[in-house]
Amino acid sequence: MFKGPFDESIVKRAQEKGLVEIKIHNLRDWAVDERGTVDDRPFGGGVGMILTPEPIFAAIEEILGTRQQALGNSQKEETNAYFLSEAKNARFSSRARGSYSLVPSASVVLLSPQGKLFNQEKARELSKLENLTLICGHYEGVDERVREHLVDEEISIGDYVLTGGELPAMVLTDAIVRLIPGVLEKPEAVESESFSAFARPGLANLEFPQYTRPENFRGWKVPEILLSGNHQKIEKWRQEQSLKHTQENRPDLLKEKNVATF
Ligand code: SAH
Repeated sequence: MFKGPFDESIVKRAQEKGLVEIKIHNLRDWAVDERGTVDDRPFGGGVGMILTPEPIFAAIEEILGTRQQALGNSQKEETNAYFLSEAKNARFSSRARGSYSLVPSASVVLLSPQGKLFNQEKARELSKLENLTLICGHYEGVDERVREHLVDEEISIGDYVLTGGELPAMVLTDAIVRLIPGVLEKPEAVESESFSAFARPGLANLEFPQYTRPENFRGWKVPEILLSGNHQKIEKWRQEQSLKHTQENRPDLLKEKNVATF
């Protein structure tokens, strides 16, 4: 299922360049019985099946255990330095909920429609981690103890229900990988695009309209101003258009960021 999106284009090249390593694990490899069972009926009754906690805990413990070892072998000094400086800043406490706070700069995320909404800011934050483990639910969801005792945070990709966490995991991965330094050929591209207004004051949250050749397509012309060569005017026009787009499609964003409106 992950083959297509991770084997194409930018995410593929990022892996080839060694900027990111993506590993996919099958929960059934940690099933409690020979038949590969990973789900069971909900206590208290109800429809559907729930993923049981044992295989998920076992998988994460093994995966993070392995990672800790790998880091220990190859980058021991660096890791220790990171660990100490992190400890000094007491940033560990922000993710003290999971049991894996000792793995430097790692985070375990459960994909769930009940999580906090994913956005560009969160993508940026996650792109700075050394290790990110995404847990995909299925069926009716995941035993609550996974959320309570294993994960650092729960993330949703939108207010709708999908059949599994695989597509959300791909969405997160794609959004995060393109923010890793070196992945995009022109890093400034991410600064002016939608949802990155904080990188360029004055721009509201959705990107301005973009045009390319031909100048005249079926009688629909590219706005004069973009052909004028007057960079100041172009910049002003882009700011106005960006704000207009946001007002029309996403007025909620303007409220959130307190951007002045006309
Ligand atoms: N019964 C649950 C929905 C389970 S959907 C409820 O009502 O909340 C099955 C799995 O798909 C979830 O465990 C989650 O991993 C994934 N999933 C579905 N919708 C999602 C969304 N909007 N964002 C992130 N993950 C989602």
